[in-house]
Amino acid sequence: MDIWSGVGVVLNNSSSTLDSIFQSNGLWSFVNFVFMFLIFLRIVSIIWTAKDIISRTNNTWLQVLSILLVTFLTPLFGLPLYFIVRPVYFKRDLIPRREASALSLVNCTNCHTLNPKEYECCITCGEKLKIVCKQCNKEYPHMYAYCPICGAPNIE
Ligand SMILES: [Zn+2]
Ligand SMILES: [Zn+2]
Repeated sequence: MDIWSGVGVVLNNSSSTLDSIFQSNGLWSFVNFVFMFLIFLRIVSIIWTAKDIISRTNNTWLQVLSILLVTFLTPLFGLPLYFIVRPVYFKRDLIPRREASALSLVNCTNCHTLNPKEYECCITCGEKLKIVCKQCNKEYPHMYAYCPICGAPNIE
């Protein structure tokens, strides 16, 4: 063996040792990365589910069930099931729909008849439905706790 082939063997050996170290290291950090990513994914999906279900329902059982689904069945199986059991609408979408008609009505303080909020007097007993705000002098329904124009409290 001459000197150059000797050098060649040494270089080959060292480079293949470096290669194997690099590869096992690379594989290790890849597995590590995937593992960390899966944990991250699980934590994020649990937090997301908790926030999502709380914004959709006040039902504590449904909230707990949804979080348990995603926690124990993993996001892979838990999330599709969660999409089936979760309420379709957010609470913020439901409340205006349900109360839109109620918001345009006011209760007569005398006979409790519901009147459209534009009306000055009750359609059943003739009681005045509006008061004048002490602060901004605008009229608003008697039953409101605060002036809807300036926010001054209704002290009548
Ligand atoms: Zn009335
Ligand atoms: Zn006012």
